Amino acid sequence: MADLEPVDEQWQRGLCVVAHPDDLEFGAAAAIARWTDQGKHLTYVMVTSGEAGIDAMTPDECRRVREAEQIESARIVGVDAVEFLGLPDGILEYGLPLRAAICRTIRVHRPEVVITANFRDTWGGRALNQADHIAAGRAVLDAARDAGNRWIFADQLTDGLEPWGGVRQVLASGSPEAEHAVDTTATFDRGVASLKAHRAYIDGLGWEFDPEEFLEGFSRPAGARLGVPFAAPFEVYSLAFGG
Ligand SMILES: [Zn+2]
Repeated sequence: MADLEPVDEQWQRGLCVVAHPDDLEFGAAAAIARWTDQGKHLTYVMVTSGEAGIDAMTPDECRRVREAEQIESARIVGVDAVEFLGLPDGILEYGLPLRAAICRTIRVHRPEVVITANFRDTWGGRALNQADHIAAGRAVLDAARDAGNRWIFADQLTDGLEPWGGVRQVLASGSPEAEHAVDTTATFDRGVASLKAHRAYIDGLGWEFDPEEFLEGFSRPAGARLGVPFAAPFEVYSLAFGG
């Protein structure tokens, strides 16, 4: 049942844009480790700092802890640059301010590929997705096109910032509609370590959570569908005309 296709890896610059610290570690991090091993350059952009994510911690304290955990998670998979856009956690709204903020970061970083997390209504079956993920992912897809149009968010084009129409694909990790995947067999362990770096968040869940077991639970079936031991599934949105 090898019915997933390998993700196209003929690119050099990737930008990862997600709603929260930990969103990349719940599925994409092992693929990112593979890509940095290939010499690709990746940057992480967190739309919020996940400051509403730990019940027993005030948002100000939580922001500091979670930003530090995210920077360490990124380091483990070979990513040195992590940016935080500072939008409010838990109450993100799809709309022009969110599109503009993401458009700006795409114009600054000029990626060929933008990686985000699943923004479908569910993770498959009845496992509901979360509102910030849906808003952020949808805005990433739109901002990837906005970035190339000099007449959209034109006020951003000062101090040498130019439109960037070079995004060829948006990859949404963990989508239930995924038809592509990345072989993560060699980098699975770094993906686990990267998720474990979110220690305060995992401790704050209030239930027993084993990062390795969780990541194995979806990486093995995705691997079977790609014909390898472990894989990370991605839904691929092509931005090329006719692509
Ligand atoms: Zn999240």
